[in-house]
Amino acid sequence: MATTLLEAQIHNGPGGYSGVSGTPEWASEVKRLARERNATILAHNYQLPEIQDVADHVGDSLALSRIAAEASEDTIVFCGVHFMAETAKILSPTKTVLIPDARAGCSLADSITADDLRAWKADYPDAVVVSYVNTTAEVKALTDICCTSSNAVDVVASVDPDRDVLFLPDQFLGAHVKRITGRKNLHIWAGECHVHAGINGDELTAQAMSHPDAELFVHPECGCATSALYLAGEGAFPADRVHILSTGGMIDAARVAKSKQVLVATEVGMLHQLRKAAPGIDFQAVNDRASCKYMKMITPAALLRCLIEGKDEVHVDPEIAKAASKSVQRMIEIGTPGGGE
Ligand code: SF4
Repeated sequence: MATTLLEAQIHNGPGGYSGVSGTPEWASEVKRLARERNATILAHNYQLPEIQDVADHVGDSLALSRIAAEASEDTIVFCGVHFMAETAKILSPTKTVLIPDARAGCSLADSITADDLRAWKADYPDAVVVSYVNTTAEVKALTDICCTSSNAVDVVASVDPDRDVLFLPDQFLGAHVKRITGRKNLHIWAGECHVHAGINGDELTAQAMSHPDAELFVHPECGCATSALYLAGEGAFPADRVHILSTGGMIDAARVAKSKQVLVATEVGMLHQLRKAAPGIDFQAVNDRASCKYMKMITPAALLRCLIEGKDEVHVDPEIAKAASKSVQRMIEIGTPGGGE
């Protein structure tokens, strides 16, 4: 009965599914339907708070894919964007992987296609391809080693210094890796995430000046990661208070942070888990408009529909999955992969 009433409210529009709020009644219906399907619900750190709260596990993309692979349930409901659900499918090929709205894409993953990469590789036939996890399964299948923001430096450092490296798709993460490794033969794809690129150096500088005692957590995909390091170098923001971290690394750092206030430069959904991890700290967004519209397509209505209809199912061609899983496995073996985004 409860499902019928709620189901009748679901509206499907061009921006996604709407019409249902994250009420306690909705949450108990979601949990009941998940049990009925023998499904576990995973939610990325950038999801809406009500989706994070109803999920069985919340984390970054790699941590969630590992949980998916080890889960006893045979259905995974992945509340995140499409490439993340694909990665879960690559690592758990025998499981049913559902995403509440397959239209939830990623501007960073979309910034390079498999054809783009084939053409780039043709220009550098002996190069090693290193791809950040925010890529499609097809791009991962053409990749030698995937990386996360936590182990990108270790992955690039593991490559023979005489070989060219093609690093994709994020130019800011690429610049960060180039700066640390000092590697001249690192070629960087000019891709970016519209959300992270929108967090700029000017905003960061203004925030740093007006909160002189705060610590600063920066995701390396942010357009401001370079500015954060520059500011630290200039002494505007003490270097020991600037932390370049993956989303998973931010949660760990929050638990041990000493300051009363932390400025956070990444997608605003991250604030929900940080506030839960360290309730005594005042977490503030560097840019409170940094919200990913794709992540926010996983609405209460979308999740409910997914559990009622068993849609949208994520499929990856078995040959592509096999090749992609090799590059993902190499990523897991090098350094501390952490969790990427
Ligand atoms: S925040 Fe950016 S990188 Fe992350 S899913 Fe959204 S578009 Fe992609």
